[in-house]
Amino acid sequence: MLSGDLLTEREAGSCPVEGGSVEWVEMTAEESLQKNPLVPDSGRYWCYRCKAHNGFDHIIKRTRRARSNDTYEKMSCVRCQASMFNPARTKPVMYGFLGITLVALLFALALWRDYEDYVAGCLGFAAFFGLIGFMKLYYMNLWWSWARLQKAKSPEQLEEEGRQYIVSFEKARK
Ligand SMILES: [Zn+2]
Repeated sequence: MLSGDLLTEREAGSCPVEGGSVEWVEMTAEESLQKNPLVPDSGRYWCYRCKAHNGFDHIIKRTRRARSNDTYEKMSCVRCQASMFNPARTKPVMYGFLGITLVALLFALALWRDYEDYVAGCLGFAAFFGLIGFMKLYYMNLWWSWARLQKAKSPEQLEEEGRQYIVSFEKARK
């Protein structure tokens, strides 16, 4: 739909250079599609509150504890300030944490009878990694269900919704 509009514009003679203008049309069409915040792309940061690939502010904070130089990184959604995440990067980390949780639980089970002293430690370990793992799983679930929903829509519908979204977004920022 969009590329059609652009083609009409080009045919109207807005650009005198024939070869260059064709390239421009293709690039613009591709760019608008890539920029649509409502098309799921697991490689891009996603806001779970807005349910969109919004722009974000990259914030790095330093923790204020003594002896610690830990930095805390946040991708803050420009629309709602929620912390955004990158599904493609979060997924392996989530599996890692859940895997460690499982191993720790198996250890606790194996040590249950003969090495009671270690069981509490294993369970604590499992609880810690499990908590983070399941938190990530929760966010990944939000992403998966949204991505499924979006992929069921036609490209035209996504294009239209994406355009409306950008318009309402621009209004909200003013
Ligand atoms: Zn947001």
